[in-house]
Amino acid sequence: MDTIATDIKVDEAALRDLEASFRGPIVRPGDPTYDQDRKIWNGSIDRHPALIARCAGVADVIAAVRFGRRTGLPVAVRSGGHSFPGLSSVDGGLVIDLSQMRGIRVDPEARMARAQAGVLLGELDRETQAFGMAVPSGIVTHTGMAGLTLGGGIGWLMRKYGLSVDQLLSVDLITADGEFVKASEKQNPDLFWGVRGGGGNFGIVTDFEFRLNPVGPTVLAGPVLWPMEESPNVLRFYREWIKDVPDELTTIVAHRYAPPLPAIPPELRGKPVVMVIFCYAGPVEEGERVVRPMREFGSPLLDLCAAKPFLAHQAMFDPSFPPGWWYYFRSADLAELSDDVIDIVADNALKMKSLLTAFPIFQLGGAISRVGEDDTPYNGRKAGHTININATTESAQGFDEERDWSKNFWSELQPYQTSVYVNFLLDEGEDRIRQAYGPARYDRLKALKRTYDPDNFFRLNQNIPPN
Ligand SMILES: Cc1cc2nc3c(=O)[nH]c(=O)nc-3n(C[C@H](O)[C@H](O)[C@H](O)COP(=O)(O)OP(=O)(O)OC[C@H]3O[C@@H](n4cnc5c(N)ncnc54)[C@H](O)[C@@H]3O)c2cc1C
Repeated sequence: MDTIATDIKVDEAALRDLEASFRGPIVRPGDPTYDQDRKIWNGSIDRHPALIARCAGVADVIAAVRFGRRTGLPVAVRSGGHSFPGLSSVDGGLVIDLSQMRGIRVDPEARMARAQAGVLLGELDRETQAFGMAVPSGIVTHTGMAGLTLGGGIGWLMRKYGLSVDQLLSVDLITADGEFVKASEKQNPDLFWGVRGGGGNFGIVTDFEFRLNPVGPTVLAGPVLWPMEESPNVLRFYREWIKDVPDELTTIVAHRYAPPLPAIPPELRGKPVVMVIFCYAGPVEEGERVVRPMREFGSPLLDLCAAKPFLAHQAMFDPSFPPGWWYYFRSADLAELSDDVIDIVADNALKMKSLLTAFPIFQLGGAISRVGEDDTPYNGRKAGHTININATTESAQGFDEERDWSKNFWSELQPYQTSVYVNFLLDEGEDRIRQAYGPARYDRLKALKRTYDPDNFFRLNQNIPPN
């Protein structure tokens, strides 16, 4: 137990009132589970909340919001706890923790799924794949569905079915006044627009309702690896090849040291590689034909692209991003992989030191680009790629050096940056948040914030201040 945490003062009368009816545990410094419950995914961030209100249901969320208002404690909202900058925890404040709210209900006939805010991506996939369906979401199964969806949600199905928010039908939300509202195309459509990318600025979403689409359950998916020094050639070929690929295919290019996983032969482990990772969300035979030219390019070191359960592919990156390691990210949307961009990427890939660093370049386009640019706050509809320059170490050792590598790499890419995905931002200030939405959508979000949260009660997020 940490001594800093025991000094925090809380209004005891207000706390007694909260405890009288709260169904979930309320965790304080000194409680046996405090150190476990305050942990978030990014091990480089270590915060000590005054209280962690672990909500068991919507009534608890309402009570926690009202308690936050009454006491004036700063409030952080936590679902999956995977915020890169650690926005789901706060020193000396109240964490409204939804991670115990894990209910999922799939209606296969109506092709809809309802999920509570604490659900993780792998859990939603597991329930929906039982019916051969899925919601487009992210690429690591232990990420929270709530935070990911509220920022947009990019992943392996995005070119076929769009962002997570493009399949969102409605949300239940608790406002800054502790009131329950629903938002959909028909009910509070302004709010529904805002939550499809505007993050946690407008309230706490307790339930999400998604449209489901057929996926797999078997897909053609997996990585093909080349030596990292081949990166300029691989990327130049890749750039031309993806121009004509169908929306069923989404790819990610990753540079890293080959990990010590069972699928990687021992002689390859620790070798610097560039990989193109495929996921074909259509018939496997069709996928084989589509990916063949890329798979056959040059002399791959290893080809792990095969027919497999979609669930297995979704979990592929899990061992590379476990909770507790130290992570630093910088990100940018890029219009295209121009020669200059390729040279910067290939050059910086060779400079990374940590065996744990792996930086993905997502292929965008397809269904994402066919949704109107103003239909949601998300700003990357016309971008070609999103790069996430992820610096990772196991602990503090070597972290500063790897972080500087990420910063320098990102600075070199800055002239080519068209926008940035809000869920890939660190604590980078208001200009960057404006860039994540574009000026017009940012102003619209600000106006919405004035309606739903004029006091900026929900401010520990990628904040859109009301004024
Ligand atoms: C390993 C890893 C892999 C990732 N992969 C992808 C990916 O493939 N695609 C992608 O799009 N993103 C990805 N992300 C980014 C991810 O979308 C964000 O980190 C997101 O915030 C995580 O959601 P969470 O619920 O786990 O986060 P939390 O840390 O719990 O929450 C983050 C923020 O979201 C808001 N929030 C969370 N829950 C609620 C709620 N119920 N109501 C209102 N506001 C809420 C709050 O402002 C909170 O500060 C990844 C992140 C990690 C760490």
